[in-house]
Amino acid sequence: MFQSIIDLFFPKVCYACYVHLQDYEQYVCTSCRHSLPVTNYHFNANNAVEKVFYGREKVEQATALLRFEKKSIVQQLIHNLKYRGYEEIGVFLGQWLGNELKEIAAYNEIDIVIPVPLHKKKLKKRGYNQVAKFGQEIAKALQADYNDASLIKITNTTSQVTKKRFARWQTNYELFALQNASLIENKHVLIVDDIITTGATLESCIQILNKAKNVKISIATMAIVQ
Ligand SMILES: [Zn+2]
Repeated sequence: MFQSIIDLFFPKVCYACYVHLQDYEQYVCTSCRHSLPVTNYHFNANNAVEKVFYGREKVEQATALLRFEKKSIVQQLIHNLKYRGYEEIGVFLGQWLGNELKEIAAYNEIDIVIPVPLHKKKLKKRGYNQVAKFGQEIAKALQADYNDASLIKITNTTSQVTKKRFARWQTNYELFALQNASLIENKHVLIVDDIITTGATLESCIQILNKAKNVKISIATMAIVQ
């Protein structure tokens, strides 16, 4: 009853195209859902996300749910998730990928899901980490822990000053730091992020997490730019 009154004043709309959702639809309309470009990478070894890390870092499993293209529904969804407060898009994508990963034996070995962190200033400004819900839903599906206390961002890369400094000293400039290392020792960690492009951010995260003893790393992102 209460929910229907809310719906009357705030009808649910598709997070990608803004059409009103039917009662049986959630987050995204049926038409958008069917046109989303899924990769199915997690069902394939030597996929494009795994290849990003070849010759760089050891990664057990790696996947991206969707293909990212400019001016696509995927771009719209991720933009709305990051900049328009539609945090539930992370729930939608996390439940979707989580349901697929839980059917794959290799992903069931994951103990902990860790989101790529935001700097505390950026977190305060945005109000949430856009990959938190995505990671929490995947953790739930895999019966793994969700941990946002071990990997922290120590450099705010959005400030202009830092950008210049980072460009100059890129080679030895650390963006992330490890806290509570004991929580991840001897664990298989799944790092989650929104979009993978060059893999540089994830590579920095992997290097920091590897400072803990005997850690295995896997990767899952919402989308990949190809
Ligand atoms: Zn739609």
